[in-house]
Amino acid sequence: MQNKEQRENAFHAPFVLKNITNTYLRGDIVKELEEKILKEGHALSENILKVDSFINHQVDPVLMQQIGDDFARHFANRGITKVVTIESSGIAPALTTASALKVPMIILKKQPSKVLNDNLLQTVVTSFTKGTSYELTLSHQFIEDNDNVLIIDDFLANGEAASGAIRLLTEAGASIAGVGILIEKSFQPGREKLIAQGIEVYSLARVSKLAKGVIEFIPEEN
Ligand code: 5GP
Repeated sequence: MQNKEQRENAFHAPFVLKNITNTYLRGDIVKELEEKILKEGHALSENILKVDSFINHQVDPVLMQQIGDDFARHFANRGITKVVTIESSGIAPALTTASALKVPMIILKKQPSKVLNDNLLQTVVTSFTKGTSYELTLSHQFIEDNDNVLIIDDFLANGEAASGAIRLLTEAGASIAGVGILIEKSFQPGREKLIAQGIEVYSLARVSKLAKGVIEFIPEEN
């Protein structure tokens, strides 16, 4: 049984690779995710992919665990101190990643806060799926100057959500270790936008084309 101090120290323990299951390789995870997308995903248009049965509404916890392990393996030994996501669909993979890295997870909230104070950072983000804007909010108390943060989200489209997260975290004094994405729509400009800011983007499934009934991926390089 750990005492309070040991539990707190565990949060700040350096990443230990042996705690992460090495049974799955990146290629296996990507293949599994792509197969699931082909089987259960629906291309609603040339721009929107619906994955409600395993990411956005119902969640596949075993897949999320494997994805979290893969993100943690990829970003191992980079001194990550916190995993940050945007509510709500990023929470499941962000939690499994944070758990594998043994660091806290922070959820950036989408509601504007009426209580404006020095401790609250906010930025306006345009929602890809809704076409409306929302305020992304971070309480400064959860980020310190020396934090090195990994951002996790379900989709990357125009890079608005990730760029908003980067703005908030940078304003709070953190450095950004990278962005981990489950499904990147590579025909949209998000990846280029983030790379232009000097941010590493690590995506699992990379969709090259969507159309009614059509979902195509960029093949994995071996
Ligand atoms: P971005 O900010 O990169 O333009 O869009 C990413 C955000 O919009 C993600 O947080 C995700 O929730 C949502 N999103 C973008 N494209 C899709 C999509 O094709 N399907 C779903 N379900 N969500 C998407």
